[in-house]
Amino acid sequence: MGIAQNLELVRSRLEQAARRANRNPAEVRLVAVSKLHPAASIREAYAAGQRDFGENYVQELVGKARELADLDGLRWHLIGHLQRNKAKYVAPFVSLLHTVDSLSLAGELAKRSAAAAERKGQPLPVLVEVSIAGEEQKSGAALSELPALLEAIDGEPSLTLRGLMCVPPATATGDAARPYFETLRRLRDEYGGTARLPELSMGMSSDLEAAVAAGATWVRVGTAIFGERPVNNPREPEPGGG
Ligand SMILES: *Cc1c(COP(=O)(O)O)cnc(C)c1O
Repeated sequence: MGIAQNLELVRSRLEQAARRANRNPAEVRLVAVSKLHPAASIREAYAAGQRDFGENYVQELVGKARELADLDGLRWHLIGHLQRNKAKYVAPFVSLLHTVDSLSLAGELAKRSAAAAERKGQPLPVLVEVSIAGEEQKSGAALSELPALLEAIDGEPSLTLRGLMCVPPATATGDAARPYFETLRRLRDEYGGTARLPELSMGMSSDLEAAVAAGATWVRVGTAIFGERPVNNPREPEPGGG
């Protein structure tokens, strides 16, 4: 099946999941995760009306953003772990950064975002990635670090705190991911509710229904739209390489 048809299917899964949860389908938005897929696939999804695209690797995001600069209104989301020394590359290009996970990264992003002429004084919208499964997980802020991190972001005029993000352990697929999504939602309620943290980024191809039921406002879907990824390189390519 083509990308346009896949997108249709994903949109209808989202809509049905929202209705089952008594939610307005318009509250649930879709990030099409295009990592490791070619720019031509992004053009195809764009032609089918998709505007939000997610990438994991900074180098790849920046390369594609340049290559696809002719596509009006296309918005980039960084959904992979960001190393502090790469913050300068993303601030100009990204419309929502899903993976702030430390005070030092928040500080660096604030500095870089303030300096990015492309942002024209617009603060960079960010989510805090939470390590929802504790020790099993490598990425995300620990629960104990969360209050201070949220406060630090609130205190940076060049960043806007928009919400929380999580990636459940890879072994928890489908409904098994639901408890992790519920935990993220409870954290949101605990740390200021929708007024402070309106967005919850959670849910992927295999578990988007469970995420929508738990309150997701952004789901990040790759495989169900673009098919299997050609290569699965888990490591961030170095600047200049990859
Ligand atoms: C790759 C990736 C996705 C998309 O996963 P699929 O299973 O292909 O839908 C979502 N979120 C993050 C953080 C990812 O790295």
